[in-house]
Amino acid sequence: MTAPEILPHDEDLEKRNILRDYRTLLKAIKPRLRDGDEKRIRQAFEIALESHKDMRRKSGEPYIHHPLAVATIVAEEIGLGVTSVICALLHDVVEDTDYTLDEVKREFGGEVATIVDGLTKISKLGSGSDSVQAENYRKILLTLSDDIRVILIKIADRLHNMRTLDDVPRKNQLKISSETLFLYAPLAHRLGLYSIKGEFEDLSMKYTESEKYKEIASKLNSKKRERNRFINDFCTPLAKEIEKSGLKAKVFGRPKTIFSIWNKMKKKGIDFEDVYDKFAIRIIIDAEPEKEKEDCWKAYSIVTDLYTPSPNRLRDWISHPKANGYESLHTTVMGPKGKWVEVQIRTERMDIIAERGLAAHWKYKENKGTKTVDEAVEGWLMQVREFLKSPDSNAIEFINDFKLQLYAQEIYTFTPSGDLKILPKDATALDFAYAIHTGLGDNCIGAKVNNKLVPISHVLRNGDQVEIISSKKQKPSEDWLNFVVTSKAKSKIKASLKELKKKVGEDGKDILDRKLRQVKANFNTENIQFLANYYKKNTPLDLYYDIANEKVDLSKLKGFKIIGGNFELPRPEKKEVKEFIPMTNAEDISKNTELVIFGDTSDMIPYEFAKCCAPIPGDDVVGFLSINGLVKIHRTSCNNMINLMSKYGYRIVKTRWTNPRKPEFLSGLMLDGLDDIGLINKLTNIISSEMKINMKSISLESKDGIFKGEIYVYIQHQDQLNELMQKMKQLPGIISVNRIEN
Ligand code: MN
Repeated sequence: MTAPEILPHDEDLEKRNILRDYRTLLKAIKPRLRDGDEKRIRQAFEIALESHKDMRRKSGEPYIHHPLAVATIVAEEIGLGVTSVICALLHDVVEDTDYTLDEVKREFGGEVATIVDGLTKISKLGSGSDSVQAENYRKILLTLSDDIRVILIKIADRLHNMRTLDDVPRKNQLKISSETLFLYAPLAHRLGLYSIKGEFEDLSMKYTESEKYKEIASKLNSKKRERNRFINDFCTPLAKEIEKSGLKAKVFGRPKTIFSIWNKMKKKGIDFEDVYDKFAIRIIIDAEPEKEKEDCWKAYSIVTDLYTPSPNRLRDWISHPKANGYESLHTTVMGPKGKWVEVQIRTERMDIIAERGLAAHWKYKENKGTKTVDEAVEGWLMQVREFLKSPDSNAIEFINDFKLQLYAQEIYTFTPSGDLKILPKDATALDFAYAIHTGLGDNCIGAKVNNKLVPISHVLRNGDQVEIISSKKQKPSEDWLNFVVTSKAKSKIKASLKELKKKVGEDGKDILDRKLRQVKANFNTENIQFLANYYKKNTPLDLYYDIANEKVDLSKLKGFKIIGGNFELPRPEKKEVKEFIPMTNAEDISKNTELVIFGDTSDMIPYEFAKCCAPIPGDDVVGFLSINGLVKIHRTSCNNMINLMSKYGYRIVKTRWTNPRKPEFLSGLMLDGLDDIGLINKLTNIISSEMKINMKSISLESKDGIFKGEIYVYIQHQDQLNELMQKMKQLPGIISVNRIEN
């Protein structure tokens, strides 16, 4: 955190800047201040100022700007109150300075101390074993079950760090961005903090895929005028009609994030120009609390009178809010010039919840918030708590399950008495049973969905009414894990299976005990371990369990040598341990070494190019140290890499290209277009004759006048590939040319 001071600082100027930031914070929290609050905030500020006084941020500015900025985000962008602002000001104090938690407690009371303690625990990031990172995530998630404010302040902390990431070394930029994409963006999404989620994604992309980011940003910028004109043409008649109807509403266009546009381009394999929803139209209605729903549908009716809606693109999150509290009406209509346009309709109250999420919703809870939202959010938090209590101890698995859960789309299902159960998409009857009660899940033999009998593996759909059929005799089995998608059901099934196994194992243990006595061998740890190894079982429990199921041939016991009650071992083979040997001998290194340099020095490390993203010179690349000491080179945009970096940040090796003009790299291109005679000729002409590029293969497939093609070529540098793609795109009939990823 501290950077050595090199230049003398203008102290007066610095003081003025700190005061300016402090005033910004006060302004943001002002509407929520009550008697004495300002004094407490001032006190927290002064303690933070004093404790951090010798620290500077990587940018060189005094450290206090960071807690001030975090507190301002907490107040202004998340909408939390005075207690949270105080905690945000103190969030790094216990962690980084001599100020203790006891002192926090004495000055500000137990509530503040508990939250600061939670924040301190999360930020103690370790490095070392594989699962440390995952364990950290688990800790972050655990705080969800205590006080949700801890996680909200942590999100604000991360947001400010992302906003100021330019000042951080490249290696840390990648690690922090990956972690943000991997965990913080989904968390923000789940808590309904949509604008923060969007910013997380855009900022992460800025560092992990800087080239693409810049490209899309500049294209968006250059088309701005044209887009604004279109939005204007769309909104003007609409706003007029809405006014006529007596509704009070704002109608405007809202750009989508760069990250979401890029995702769409990748997912659909289309060019920037072909992404139709680079913006959405929003209608925000100033409605009386009891007329919210009515007014939204009234606006919907006006929109669809003017523009034709797409029949299957209506989403009603007003009747059934999302589990994170989101309420809105979405439709897609045909706008001027034959372009599809997404329209989002909601009231001002709904809009604040949509932008700021859960916390804003709390503010409304005391007033006249709708009951369904309360229940939906509470329901989700309850699920989280349940899940966190699960006995499963594998942190990595836990995080993966949980992450799936964070982004999952939802379906709405009902119990026979009409209670709503929100489940992730693809949830089954068995998931439903576990969602109601663990016992019901364990004993589930089938279900009636809308009065029709279905098996436990039946996938539920939106609106299904489900009645679970159970029998006391039913027990979970291994294959049930394939029938469920919710993490709750998964962890409950695993726990039940373990229980069952233990019970059956008891029988196996008795059988083994008897057999051992027959051959005069002792029942002791060493003998059991010997047998487990011999029969290739992972644990004694596995051994007992398989004995009970008669899957172990115990007659072989007679053949063993037994001395003094112990089996005489032909020692079980030791597992081979691969040691980490960094290679320093330049001769051992592949002949391509001069291609890539690691870190700031020109260390020689053996490396290999990752097959998943097939980097070529010129690409943004990063190295990842694998366990055998080899560095794998990935593109920074590679999804595998993002995943790896977020979990094993300490294995990142900074990597860049040097002298790139020698070897060649295999690179794949994907083409779409209209079928045209002689196309292959034209393509090979460009590749071989014009650009003198070696080709490995070309395959074209055409159907109904449309063709798809894959071409593999040997490329020396990204510039060369770009030029080739550019040339191909100019051929008549070619619609798109893209690099093949993964
Ligand atoms: Mn911080």
